Amino acid sequence: MEQVLYIYNTLTRRKEVFKPLHAPHVGMYVCGPTVYGDAHLGHARPAITFDIVFRYLTHLGYKVRYVRNITDVGHLEHDADEGEDKIAKKARLEQLEPMEVAQYYTNRFHEAMDALGCLPPSIEPHASGHIIEQQQLVQQILDNGFAYESQGSVYFDVEKYDNVHKYGVLSGRSLENIKDASRELAGVGEKKNQADFALWKAAQPEHIMRWPSPWSDGFPGWHCECTAMGRKYLGNHFDIHGGGLDLVFPHHECEIAQAVASQGDQMVTYWMHNNMITIDGKKMGKSYNNFITLPQFFAGEHERLERGYAPMVIRFFILQAHYRSTVDFSNDALQAAEKGLERLLDAWTALQNITPDANGKVGIDYVNALKEKCYDAMNDDLNTPIVISNLFEACKTINSIADKKETITPEALEGLKDVFKTFAFDIMGIKAGAAGNAGGNAGAAREEAFGKVVDMLLEQRSKAKANKDWATSDLIRDNLAALGFEVKDTKDGFSWKLNK
Ligand SMILES: [Zn+2]
Repeated sequence: MEQVLYIYNTLTRRKEVFKPLHAPHVGMYVCGPTVYGDAHLGHARPAITFDIVFRYLTHLGYKVRYVRNITDVGHLEHDADEGEDKIAKKARLEQLEPMEVAQYYTNRFHEAMDALGCLPPSIEPHASGHIIEQQQLVQQILDNGFAYESQGSVYFDVEKYDNVHKYGVLSGRSLENIKDASRELAGVGEKKNQADFALWKAAQPEHIMRWPSPWSDGFPGWHCECTAMGRKYLGNHFDIHGGGLDLVFPHHECEIAQAVASQGDQMVTYWMHNNMITIDGKKMGKSYNNFITLPQFFAGEHERLERGYAPMVIRFFILQAHYRSTVDFSNDALQAAEKGLERLLDAWTALQNITPDANGKVGIDYVNALKEKCYDAMNDDLNTPIVISNLFEACKTINSIADKKETITPEALEGLKDVFKTFAFDIMGIKAGAAGNAGGNAGAAREEAFGKVVDMLLEQRSKAKANKDWATSDLIRDNLAALGFEVKDTKDGFSWKLNK
């Protein structure tokens, strides 16, 4: 690994050199979706952020095991113990089997992720398939004295834990703060302290999702699954744990406490968190009733959307901000991202049609400097907006060369293609030919078919020219121009692009 990668560790609150425990192997766990509804724009961000981490580490030569779970056991939001199991609630409303709901939305999630160009994780474990591992975790914590049983449920004893270890190391909250914040909540119920969280919950009679346990027929607390499955697939100590910033507290804080309470030390070296997507400055989410699902984004079916946006445009929009900055949604911002992506892909197309010149002015030094700037940006905590701005700079050069205002050596031309391919396609995961309006992969396929029709017409025009049939040749060119196609005659034949 010749590149030195720095990543921001939420636990230490600084950028640190990334040093895996068992190089070249890297273990990465990312909190996945709760599959009781369609994924929204807020879900796209962690998926894309950690796809970039996965892609970049792989590019650097690491062998990454990327685990992202599926939460199909309904968890209790905000650890409100009186709350209802979300999946079970929806399942009753729709008169469906909970696992049917979970499977349906898992499939939809996979489709959306695929459209966004996110590579599938190496392992995608389901919480419902790891009840035994979660029960083992609960038992270990009980055995070590950091949990107690109460009316069939098991709670983590935060105060007792805090006396021995320290609770709140990730979020920087003290137990006192947490107690103060919890005071408003009504009723301590079965818990000794309001800050205690459920490791196992006894199921109410109407509760559909339930499993037998030494304590009761019930279900695991939400925080258990990531600790149990992270340990199962990545070991007691692994490199990266990721998720959205909204998971720092309580979810990841509880995960740390569970790990330390069960095995005596922390499991994770680097905690990485992406920032939120806002809409009019507010977090998107079901509880705010302002979320736009990814299928709605692709189809343009939401009152806040002027039209649909291709999945690649959404990916590019998200990558234009650093993952630790917030991104505010607007139609204008998405349309600007769409133009930017088109500019990038147009330059890539132009690059394929450039004829180099042995005495070209743009040489390999230019390409090497560009490559170094792109690596520097990625190594600085995965700064994709800087990579994009470097590529935009390169687009200017490419366009000058394409317009014959500038010349490039054969070596530099190959180098430039390689830099584009590496950073735009392999690392940032942009798919060529995917900029247009809504439609995703189907849209790209249609565009390709239309493109072939234009090629066919222009081949007819070339034949007409060869036969000195200038009338037909001009007719084809003028008609295409009227439709917005700009046709250029080149040494090898022709090139065209659609200006719209
Ligand atoms: Zn999690």
